[in-house]
Amino acid sequence: MIIELKPNVDSNQQQSIIEKITALGYKSMPVATQRSKYLVAIGKKEFDIRTIGHLSGIADIHRVPDEYKLVSKKWKVAPTVIDLGDGVTIGGNGLAIMAGPCSIENEKQIEQTIQHLVANQVPIMRGGVFKPRSSPYAFRGLGIDGLKLWYELARKNGIKIISEVMQVSQIESMLPYVDVFQVGARNTQNFNLLDELGKVDKPVMIKRGISGTIDELLSSAEYVFSAGNEKLILCERGIRTYEKASRNTMDINAIPILKAKSHLPVVADPSHGIGIREYVPQVALAATVAGADGIIYETHQKPEEAFSDGQQTLDFDESSRLIKRLRAAYNLIQD
Ligand code: PEP
Ligand code: MN
Repeated sequence: MIIELKPNVDSNQQQSIIEKITALGYKSMPVATQRSKYLVAIGKKEFDIRTIGHLSGIADIHRVPDEYKLVSKKWKVAPTVIDLGDGVTIGGNGLAIMAGPCSIENEKQIEQTIQHLVANQVPIMRGGVFKPRSSPYAFRGLGIDGLKLWYELARKNGIKIISEVMQVSQIESMLPYVDVFQVGARNTQNFNLLDELGKVDKPVMIKRGISGTIDELLSSAEYVFSAGNEKLILCERGIRTYEKASRNTMDINAIPILKAKSHLPVVADPSHGIGIREYVPQVALAATVAGADGIIYETHQKPEEAFSDGQQTLDFDESSRLIKRLRAAYNLIQD
């Protein structure tokens, strides 16, 4: 159950509500986010919500039987829109396109990518400065100095930044220089990281775990929300299956299912989803038609020279063509 509290609720009122629901056999957890105050009440016993509805300080009460509560669509039907400022949004109306290299490599690469994005009116650039690599000998990213340089160049051109945070200690230093924190597939269930991201006032995009279920992704989002940050985006990036013909198996099914289960925006990552450059556009288009709110993919001026994930990275011509087709596909499915 979610009890939405009035913005001006005082601690005495909150205490009486907690006492009342405790007496009804419910455990309650207070949650305060940028938007609102809630009590998440966990319990099994059915009771008539009118028995608490009259208590002062309560704005609304919602029954949410799902394991995850605050990210569920059962209490909030309107889609959550993530506002990055300057008219850039993710969720609600429109298709948010985010593109850029797997790894941020150097100034020239950043500049070339920004030029490509600006020319195609794509306002969000992706890129990793802290890279989770399967091998410790692979390129692990430029770190915070790379992020600062990127930020400077991006801001001059009105471009927003999404970048992966790998551990709690990086949050504070990255905070001024990112518009969206990305939680990578290897960290979807890093609950310490999720808890800490709940304390910041910046959007967080959580990728589905490599072998994670849809409900596990939603529970990870619930961690961040219940820790205080409701600026959340979900990302399907393919899962590990027995199939070896592609890097991962892109679960297109997850897109309509996540959209039905949650009010949060759903983004698809076709690059990691299939892992094969020539098929990335098809998967990106399929995800768009399946109802994704955004597409995030890898592009590089010379994919064959990229420091990481070149095999799944589009060159700028392929990327420009995909952007046009994505917009056309999105328009096609609007009623
Ligand atoms: C990435 O976005 O480059 C990345 C490492 O993604 P994932 O966490 O989905 O593997
Ligand atoms: Mn990558």
